Amino acid sequence: MITRHPAAEASGRPRGTSSLLREDLAAVVGRANLVEQAASLMVYECDGYTLERAAPELVVLPGSPEEVARVIGVLARAGVPFVPRGAGTGLSGGTLPVEAPVMVCTSRLQAIEAVDVRNRRLVAQAGVVNLWISRRVQNDGLHYAPDPSSQGACTIGGNVAENSGGPHTLKYGVTTNHVLGVELVLPSGEVVQLGGAVEERPGYDLTGLVVGAEGTFGIVTRATLRLTRTPEAYRTLLAVFDSVDAASEAVSGIIAAGIVPAALEMMDHLILAAVESAFHAGLPTDAGAVLLVELDGAEAGLDEHARRVRDVCERHGAREIRSAASDAERALLWKARKRAFGAVGRLAPNYCTQDGVVPRTRVPDILRAIAATAERHRLRIGNVFHAGDGNIHPIILFDERDEDEVRRVLEAGREILEACVALGGSVTGEHGIGVEKMAQMPLLFSPDDLLAMTRVRAVFDPEQRSNPHKIFPDAKVCVETRAPRRQAAM
Ligand SMILES: Cc1cc2nc3c(=O)[nH]c(=O)nc-3n(C[C@H](O)[C@H](O)[C@H](O)COP(=O)(O)OP(=O)(O)OC[C@H]3O[C@@H](n4cnc5c(N)ncnc54)[C@H](O)[C@@H]3O)c2cc1C
Repeated sequence: MITRHPAAEASGRPRGTSSLLREDLAAVVGRANLVEQAASLMVYECDGYTLERAAPELVVLPGSPEEVARVIGVLARAGVPFVPRGAGTGLSGGTLPVEAPVMVCTSRLQAIEAVDVRNRRLVAQAGVVNLWISRRVQNDGLHYAPDPSSQGACTIGGNVAENSGGPHTLKYGVTTNHVLGVELVLPSGEVVQLGGAVEERPGYDLTGLVVGAEGTFGIVTRATLRLTRTPEAYRTLLAVFDSVDAASEAVSGIIAAGIVPAALEMMDHLILAAVESAFHAGLPTDAGAVLLVELDGAEAGLDEHARRVRDVCERHGAREIRSAASDAERALLWKARKRAFGAVGRLAPNYCTQDGVVPRTRVPDILRAIAATAERHRLRIGNVFHAGDGNIHPIILFDERDEDEVRRVLEAGREILEACVALGGSVTGEHGIGVEKMAQMPLLFSPDDLLAMTRVRAVFDPEQRSNPHKIFPDAKVCVETRAPRRQAAM
C-alpha cells in the first residue's frame, strides 16, 4: 500500500503546465533541460522517503542562479506552484509534488564560485554536493563541518533547506551554524541576498530563518559557507557492547563525564550484520551494539580524553574497545557507518528511516520504547544514529507489497515519534517535516504557534506557491491509496 497524492494522477495531459508555459520555460533553460516524458518523470516521483509518491508534470533544470530566477519569474506570472529539489536524498518527502506541477531542480548549479582561505569562507551554488566542498579546501587544512551521511550525494541547497546535521554535529553544530548568507529567489522571482560574508550583522537573522525552511520560502541559489580548520589529530574508538541498553547507558556516561567527542554514533546488532557483510570493516556481528566515538583536536591531550572514554565504556560493560590505528582504518570505520543506510537494502526490500530526538539522557528509554514498538507491531527495526545528540534513526524494515506490513510501519513510526515527544524530545532532528511528519506537528506546537509560523512563511511566499502543503498540517492534502509500486531508485 503506497499512498499517492492527487498530483500523481497521470492523465497524460498537462494540468498546471500549459504548452505556452512550457515554451516560456524552454526559452529560459533550453528544451533539453525540461523533463517531460512520463517515464523520465518517474525518477522524480519521490525522494528517500518512498512511502508516498507523486510525479511532477514537468521538471525544469536551470543551469545557473540567474536562470533559476527567470524560471521562477515565468512561474510567478503564470501563478504556478513549484517544488524545489536538489539531489532527492531527503527522508521526509520534502520534494513530493503536492498540488505543485513543476519541479525546479538545482542539480546543474555546480559551481564553487569563490574560496577565501584566509577568512575561511566559500561561496557555493545550490547544486554543489556537500563532500565537494571539503575536498576543494582539504589542501588548505580546512573542511566544511556539516557531514550528513549522504554527503557524497546531497546538495548544499538541500542541506540549507533541511538544516542538515551529521555525525560530527555533536561538536561542530548543524548547517545553520555554518551558513553565513544565502541568495534566495523568492516565489515572485525577485532575488534577495540575506546575510553575507560578515559574521555578525545587526537586524533580524533572516539567513537563520531560511535555513530549515524546507523550500517553503523560495529557492536558495547560492550560499556563503563557513569553513572549519581541520583538526590536527583524531582518536577513533570502537566500543563493543553485548546489549543496546549497555551501549546507550555508556552514551549518557560519556556526556555526563563532561567529554565532548566530535562524534558519538551507535549501530545495533541488525545494522552491524548488514554493514559488515557490505563493507568487511571487521565489525563484530555478534555484538548487541557498538559505539563509534571520535575525539579530535590538538594532538596533546587527546590520549587522555581517549583513556577517559575507554574508562566510561568499560564501566558500562564494553567487552572490547578498539582504536583505529591508521587513517585507513579510521576511514573504513566511517565508511561503514556513513553507508549503513545503503547496506540495509540487504535486509529487506524496503525500509523507512525515522528521525526523532530525545534528551541525551533519555537515549536508553527511547531505545527500549523502539524495541517494544518493534515487538508489538511484529516488525524488524535497526538503529544507527547520532547517539551523542540524542538523534535517533530507527530503520523500519518492510516489504511494500505487504499492505498490512506497510500499515504497521506507519503506525510504528508514529508511535516512536510520540514516544520521543513524551520523553521531552522532538519529531525531527535533521530530516525535516516534509509531508511525512506534518500530522505530528501539533504534538509540539499549539494552533497559535502553527499560525504564527505560517504568517512568517507568508512574508516570503504570500501565495504559498513554493513547496506548498509541506511542514504544516493541511486539510487540503487529501490522499488516496493505490496498488503498490516499485520502490524508486535513489
Ligand atoms: C543514506 C542517507 C543518509 C542520510 N544521512 C543524513 C544525515 O546524516 N544527516 C542529515 O541531516 N540528513 C541525512 N540524510 C537526509 C538528506 O540527505 C538531507 O536532508 C539532505 O540535506 C537533502 O539534500 P538533497 O540535495 O538531497 O535535497 P532534496 O532531497 O532534493 O530536498 C530536500 C528538501 O529541500 C528542499 N530543497 C532542495 N534544494 C533546495 C534549494 N536549492 N532551495 C530551497 N529548497 C531546496 C526540497 O524542496 C526538499 O524540501 C540522509 C539521506 C540518505 C538517503
